[in-house]
Amino acid sequence: MWGQHSCAMKRKPVFYVIKLNKKLLLLAGVVLLLIIGRAIFRNSIVFNIFKYQKGETIVVDPGHGGIDGGTSDKTGLLEKDINLDVGLKLKKELLVEGFRVLMTREKDESLEERSKIDSSRYRRDLDARKTIINENNPTTYVSIHVNSSPSSKAKGIKIYYYPGSTEGEMLADSIRQSVDTYVYEKYLKDDTFKAEIIPEDYFILRETEMAGVLVEIGFITNPEENKLLQNERYKRRVAYAIKKGIIEYLKSGQGDG
Ligand SMILES: [Zn+2]
Repeated sequence: MWGQHSCAMKRKPVFYVIKLNKKLLLLAGVVLLLIIGRAIFRNSIVFNIFKYQKGETIVVDPGHGGIDGGTSDKTGLLEKDINLDVGLKLKKELLVEGFRVLMTREKDESLEERSKIDSSRYRRDLDARKTIINENNPTTYVSIHVNSSPSSKAKGIKIYYYPGSTEGEMLADSIRQSVDTYVYEKYLKDDTFKAEIIPEDYFILRETEMAGVLVEIGFITNPEENKLLQNERYKRRVAYAIKKGIIEYLKSGQGDG
């Protein structure tokens, strides 16, 4: 077909045919290289970076809510509002990476009504959170809280994991490193202060069927951190650091089982 046309239309079409073939040849070459490359590097880091993201679920659990304000300061700043704000920021961060994100709450509410057990309001609220996490079988989950102390000097982000949980500890440690880098070093320009990981027998860590962490993102009772916990950029940075920590943990091959 092309040959005939080129004859009838003299040289121009011939030139066109060669050009077209060159493009096709280049395209075929690129496709071939991609196929060979993928076959060779299938098990390398390059192709594994994005492997975990396809449809994997992360549950984000902003602590307290509704009638339960959590801890507070004298000005009426409530833990539950900071938790939800950072939780929603973390959700956004994770969605961008392609995760499926499930929140235990997306508004200012407590969850006891969703529990079927006969217990105190506080217990039923925690039971509902546990049930949401277990029934959705996520890769992992993060509960978000704000700390308080009788001492105004107490400060820092603390990541809690269930005692004896290897995966929980690895996730906690990954988030700790990420917080040190992205919050303390790069954001607050303080490379001497460090986040901390702590084993703790918290209900949510004990009663859930997969490894997860509870992050206390700062002390409402520390004047410096009180201000930071009301700062949009800081809260976004904390959410970013938690996300980075989760990704590093998953890249290391954990969270599969
Ligand atoms: Zn709390």
